[in-house]
Amino acid sequence: MEVEAGDAVVVQFGLRKYYTGIVWQVHDRRPAVARVKSIERRLYDRPLLSGTQRSLWEWMATYYICSLGEVMRSALPALMKPSADSEAQLLDRQFQPRTERYYRLAPHYAADEKALNELLDRYERRAPRLYAALLEVVGSEERMRTGEVARRLLRSEITPLNTLVKKEILCVEEHTRDGGHDAARFLLPTLSEHQRQALEALHASFEQGKTAALLHGITGSGKTEIYIHLIAETLARGGDVLLLVPEIALTAQLIERMERIFGSRVTAYHSRLTNLRRAETYLQLNHSQGGEFVVGVRSSIFLPFKNLQLVLVDEEHDACYKQAEPAPRYEARDVAVYMAHAAGGRAVLGSATPSLESWLNARYGKYGFARLSERYGEARPPKIYLSDTRRAARRGERHGHFNKLLLDKMEQTLARGEQVILFQNRRGFAPYLACTECGWTAQCPSCNVTLTYHKGRNALVCHYCGHTEAVMEKCPSCKVVDLQPMGFGTEKIEEQVRQLFPEVQVARLDRDEVTSESAFNRIIGDFAARRTSILIGTQMVTKGFDFEGVALVGVLNADNLLHNPDFRATERTFQQLTQVAGRAGRRSSDGEVVIQTAEPQHPVLQQVLYGDFEAMSQTLLREREEFNYPPYTRLTQLTLRHSDPDLLRRCVGELAQQLRARFGRRLMGPVAPPVDRIRGEYIRSLLLKIEQSASRQRAHELLREQLKRIAEHPDYKSVTISINVDPQ
Ligand code: ADP
Ligand code: ZN
Ligand code: ZN
Repeated sequence: MEVEAGDAVVVQFGLRKYYTGIVWQVHDRRPAVARVKSIERRLYDRPLLSGTQRSLWEWMATYYICSLGEVMRSALPALMKPSADSEAQLLDRQFQPRTERYYRLAPHYAADEKALNELLDRYERRAPRLYAALLEVVGSEERMRTGEVARRLLRSEITPLNTLVKKEILCVEEHTRDGGHDAARFLLPTLSEHQRQALEALHASFEQGKTAALLHGITGSGKTEIYIHLIAETLARGGDVLLLVPEIALTAQLIERMERIFGSRVTAYHSRLTNLRRAETYLQLNHSQGGEFVVGVRSSIFLPFKNLQLVLVDEEHDACYKQAEPAPRYEARDVAVYMAHAAGGRAVLGSATPSLESWLNARYGKYGFARLSERYGEARPPKIYLSDTRRAARRGERHGHFNKLLLDKMEQTLARGEQVILFQNRRGFAPYLACTECGWTAQCPSCNVTLTYHKGRNALVCHYCGHTEAVMEKCPSCKVVDLQPMGFGTEKIEEQVRQLFPEVQVARLDRDEVTSESAFNRIIGDFAARRTSILIGTQMVTKGFDFEGVALVGVLNADNLLHNPDFRATERTFQQLTQVAGRAGRRSSDGEVVIQTAEPQHPVLQQVLYGDFEAMSQTLLREREEFNYPPYTRLTQLTLRHSDPDLLRRCVGELAQQLRARFGRRLMGPVAPPVDRIRGEYIRSLLLKIEQSASRQRAHELLREQLKRIAEHPDYKSVTISINVDPQ
């Protein structure tokens, strides 16, 4: 049988077991193993992996210190993963190019404007749903100049459309997805003068031969419009485009915006699609000759692009680009730049608050650079107030968790009929319950953390393992008094807001409320349509939203962002506060932001106040350089886990000793992380700091050798060791 590298093939083991695997290399050397299995058959009519993809997998396995098998498990859609049982599922499914359905006006109405108008008049009075659907089709004809309705309509309002088809007012057309390179069809936004200059700066840096460029544009400046122009250019040349977004749920709005311009050329790729749909997308790209446009989350880097010419990383600073679990713990932004380089394409990293890594790359000229420092159109950057919580308390100007300033602004905003977003980075009602007598707090039995109090469920919940228990009547320790909620989360804020503004419609957006995609869409949809006026949420509200009605953003407590025990805490605080502030006043109205804090003089809050990214990055880069942290040093973190604390201590001690013999002061630890026990397993970690000038590859080779010795040690076999290269 003819096979080639990258082919998926079936091999029989034993009588009944079939495994699929991927041909990695075709050679004529005799393998070392005694018995060699023959290949039963090939699975698809073309290789599942291209040469480029195989090199990428190999690079990832080396760089992130994991096996090719681990890369494969993250890379292939579930239905295509070689395993004993999934073998049959996609086997016989012949790949069918996906077709799209379009509605268009039936010819007799398209030709007869008078009849159409009469019909519309009648429907407007008697059949509002049909009227809306028909108007959408008629309207799209003008807007898109093609007489087609974008596919997104099919999802939302299919019933009235089908009624119109039955009445022969509309007709349906099926088309295979058009792969044409007819760029003239895209109706692109006209760029402002600033935007045009930024686009030119990006082009210029590419002409100088740079692979990547950083687009630093404040929120609302129109980075998306620049992406749109780059995408259209690339598609017109028949190149593939990948637009990476941090989290698909938060960027539904972005996909819709892209569909309005690129129609069915947009392919979304994320974890909420069905397994079948993801496998089909993979095959669709594998059959394509280029000209594909994928909008997707980090795993989209594994799709089989044939001619990848442009990778856009939106909100490139976002921690979601890093895969935390399982291995490979890759950073999709970094992989994207690698891929663009390997394919001879370009990468654009966009953000209002770039990561210090990308910022430094741009400053040293390794990356190109373009800036947008003004909001588009009439919109102005929001006015930010730092509101001192301690001073407010002293003056009696504090109600619950609100300073008078924030309450006054909320009242004024709501009175004008505009909307408010409130950001609190903790969910639940209160972080914990404590006894006022003896100080007892409820702990998770299997993790070393306090349980979070959820009032709605009257339960204590562990946010690490999900452990849930009922709230006790009396303090179990001293049995004297009731437990009191300490600190506060989103749920408590919601309760106070409802008391303070009983007339106002309030919604909450956090992981407790958002249990499904439909719950998320409902909350967002209600807020976008202004059915709710105040939206309270965690990180979820800080990202990417573009609601035109929001005039005020309130941050309940900036201090707990600052006091995270992480070397990136300050950088993240700046990013989150700037991002959430950017949700205010995105159209014409003047946006306002109130940030409550006990430390209004804190340098990073002052930098947020003045929107001074440069000052922030300068201060932080100086610190990072002095204390040897990224981007001046590369980190590799080792995490060891075991249920037996003594065994773990011995194991990590031995490993540390061996590594110290080779790496000296570059090795830090062992240390116990802030949460040092999860699900009954104890945790210790080690950190390697490797300076930029040293060979990381060599360091990782040494590291692999030592890890192998530990793994082979009879006592330590049961210790789980995970490796995190470039931890976030
Ligand atoms: P960013 O992605 O930088 O936060 P957006 O691209 O979302 O900014 O732009 C902010 C708002 O301004 C959006 O509503 C967008 O439609 C509008 N906008 C920006 N540039 C243009 C343009 N050139 N033409 C029309 N509208 C624009
Ligand atoms: Zn727990
Ligand atoms: Zn007590």
